[in-house]
Amino acid sequence: PADNAYQYPLLIKQLLLSGPRYNPDQEIVYANRSKYTYTDLVDRIHRLANALTDAGVQAGDTVAVMDWDTPRYLECFFAVPMIGAILHTINVRLSPEQIVYTMNHAEDDVVLVHDDFLSIIEGVKDEIKTVKTWIQLTDSDQAKAAPVDTIGEYEELLAKADNQFDFPDFDENSVATTFYTTGTTGNPKGVYFSHRQLVLHTLTMTGVTAAFDEMPLLRSSSVYMPLTPMFHVHAWGVPYAATMLGVKQVYPGRYEPELLVDLLKEHKVTFSHCVPTIMQMMMGTESIKTADLNNWHVLIGGSALTKGLCDAGAKLGIKMYTAYGMSETCPLLSASHIKPEDMELPLEQQTSKRVKTGVAVPMVELEIVDPEGKPLPHDGEAKGEVVARAPWLTQGYFKQPEKGEELWEGGWLHTGDVASMEPDHTLTIKDRIKDVIKTGGEWLSSLDLENLISQHPAVAGAAVVGIPDEKWGERPHAMVTLKPGEEATLEDIQSHLKKFVDAGEINKWAIPNQIDFVEDIPKTSVGKINKKLIRDQLK
Ligand code: ADP
Repeated sequence: PADNAYQYPLLIKQLLLSGPRYNPDQEIVYANRSKYTYTDLVDRIHRLANALTDAGVQAGDTVAVMDWDTPRYLECFFAVPMIGAILHTINVRLSPEQIVYTMNHAEDDVVLVHDDFLSIIEGVKDEIKTVKTWIQLTDSDQAKAAPVDTIGEYEELLAKADNQFDFPDFDENSVATTFYTTGTTGNPKGVYFSHRQLVLHTLTMTGVTAAFDEMPLLRSSSVYMPLTPMFHVHAWGVPYAATMLGVKQVYPGRYEPELLVDLLKEHKVTFSHCVPTIMQMMMGTESIKTADLNNWHVLIGGSALTKGLCDAGAKLGIKMYTAYGMSETCPLLSASHIKPEDMELPLEQQTSKRVKTGVAVPMVELEIVDPEGKPLPHDGEAKGEVVARAPWLTQGYFKQPEKGEELWEGGWLHTGDVASMEPDHTLTIKDRIKDVIKTGGEWLSSLDLENLISQHPAVAGAAVVGIPDEKWGERPHAMVTLKPGEEATLEDIQSHLKKFVDAGEINKWAIPNQIDFVEDIPKTSVGKINKKLIRDQLK
């Protein structure tokens, strides 16, 4: 065939074909502000493509976004890569110094910035090196005065732009998106994903829901609301999958717990995904007590789902599942695999299945290996580093080839996580290699201990780190938050843990002799327990 036409390149523009075809009138909602249809979405993506190219954006340029979770952001997920440019999803929760580092490192050409982040830009504007064009995003009638010259406000630019754009075909290996790891140690590192990778990831994201019968995450009848910021690994890639299927989508804007619960209720949301702390935050609201959450399915990832949280959710009817991945992996690697027979158990008894790290999803190979890279047995006992192969793993770190070599040592991507694997392929992450506690010559998983502490009825959340100890090498130190109105002492938690020692689940050295009861556990920019900061504070 002419021009090898049969070699259909896998491009993000194809993810936009089916949703509007199936459900042109389906709604895309912006918090309690506005809504529009899939037909409007397509119209706006074409307009945005024209507005960007009118502003001089060319294929290969980098277009960065600083916004909350909005339909605008969804439009950028499509329009920017569809014109051949690279979408840089800026982590707005990093420090201003780190934000400017990522902007310069990614060599951003254009930045779309929401009013709420103008003060950050004002503080660092003299250090920003490559940005030529600024576009302002606002939710008010009157945009704020910007500290930089902008070419205008997003809605005005869209209104002026033509609504027909002829999106070209190009090499499926072109970079589509880039963003930075959360950088708890050193500067954040840039990862990047091609059109081909994102298309395949999207197909698997939808495939997962078909392969795992009892996990109705995305169906045509679903109502989807992301609760993982869109800058955090493309909101785990779910907006692409939801759009491809044409499901109703609700973008919550800035995360305000009461508003999130109101949106759940109003739109009868059936599917979300988040890190555990966001779930905890929502479960702490007044309004959740009167919500019917029996149809709410939530993928919990980014950190381990504890039994305590999963049980507390089950009591409210929430069905939680685990997903595992990282910035470097686009992110999806594994997810809970709940079988029909498991579903016959009462929800509370399903917890032990739901909190496991799950089974590698379609197209993903996961292994656990020893320090020499040799595969370890899948016997549920042996523990080794998780390594992965899949079509959507980052090729390396942007402009840091030596770090990429390390990441890909031996031809597998090294996750830095320690896990065991059962004969039925179920993976259980035990810890990050750097968080494992070595005490008295034994090896203690901080996640196991957090999990056990979280099962105390008064405990809302727990973080455990190793602190240096002359006699033992390291000793576990716990930080605990309590549920509203609950009380517990060091001795209460210790005697709770003693039960697990008696049952042979942990050894007695695992019981911390220091527990700090705190209001809040230090978190990273994406709401995970910040163990590095906790260790630094304890020094
Ligand atoms: P950062 O490494 O900066 O926190 P990532 O979002 O890339 O940013 O984090 C990936 C890491 O999060 C994984 O390597 C793993 O340690 C942890 N993680 C992600 N999902 C899970 C999970 N389901 N269970 C346990 N740990 C998880």
